Order: sequence, then C-alpha cells, then structure tokens
Amino acid sequence: MSEEFDLPDDRGHCHDFHLTVPEGDDRERRVCRACGFVDYVNPKIIVGAVVSHEGRILLVRRAIPPRTGFWTIPAGYMEEGESVAEGAAREVHEEAGAHIAIDALLAVYSIPRISQVQMIHRAILTRPDFAPGIESLEARLFAYDEIPWADLAFPSVHWALRDWLRVQGRADFAPFGNPPGDDGRRLPSF
Ligand SMILES: [Zn+2]
Repeated sequence: MSEEFDLPDDRGHCHDFHLTVPEGDDRERRVCRACGFVDYVNPKIIVGAVVSHEGRILLVRRAIPPRTGFWTIPAGYMEEGESVAEGAAREVHEEAGAHIAIDALLAVYSIPRISQVQMIHRAILTRPDFAPGIESLEARLFAYDEIPWADLAFPSVHWALRDWLRVQGRADFAPFGNPPGDDGRRLPSF
C-alpha cells in the first residue's frame, strides 16, 4: 500500500478544525478533531522564465493585482501534476501567448516574506509570434538597454533579468540564488 492511502481522508467529510501543535511537531497547525487530518500550509512554488528572442527579452505588463500596469517576466503559481519546466512554459503561453524552449534553470529565489519559492528558467521563443493573455495588458520584446527598470513589478524580476545577463551565451552555470544582501524578508521599496 502506498503512503498516500495511509493518510486520513481529507475530502470525505467536513473537518472540525482546531489549532494545536501535533505530536512531534514544533508549530501550531489546523488539526481535525474528528479524523486527525493536519492542514499543513506550506510555501507556494512560482514558475517562470526569462524568454529571449534574437537577444531581446519578452516582458508582459500586468492586467491584474498586485502591481497592475507594471512589467514582469511571465511567471505564476505551479499547478499540481506538472513539472517546473512544464509550469514555466504554461505560464509563458497563458500570459504572453508564446511558445518556448527552455534550456536551463536560471535561478531559485526564496521570498520568505510571502512564503514563495520562485523557479525561473531561461528560454527562447520557438515561434516569433506572441500576444498578451487575459492577465496581461501588453506583451513586448525589449532590448536589454530598453528594459523599463523603474516600472518592473517585483524585486525578483530585477534579479532574474540581471542574472540572465550574467550568463548570456553560457551553458555552464549553476542556478543563481537571491542576490547577496537580500534574503527576501524585507518589504520591497517601490
Ligand atoms: Zn476530519
């Protein structure tokens, strides 16, 4: 019997939660009084990509909060049942209508302030056509020196674009982490 069948059923009934520290644990969780189900809340995984085409970088302008109207690389929440690369390609297609080939994992950023792990890939367009999806106001290719740095949506977009430049044309690199001095716990200063 596989491990998942040993877990209490979490969908068959309405749980009767209370906050308690489960035995052997070190923090409070929501635990069901009736069946013992523990409602673990864990960090979310964000998947995305710095996508280039003939040296220019694909950015999308956000149509939804947070940071509506600001530019970002295509990225979003990983879904169940997909790999990180599949998730990144899906997000690029949803937000920019683009098809990509991923060649490397560029970076893994930790943002403990909002309990996110961001897995950002490096990719190129496999077809030159793209168009903004419903969560985007615009999708555009920018030469590196045209990137609207003051209008980027999140600190980690800056990080990813800078890390992309550091390994442009190189295949032999390890994924980057957070830049020195930024542990992802401070509020961004927009
Ligand atoms: Zn229950």
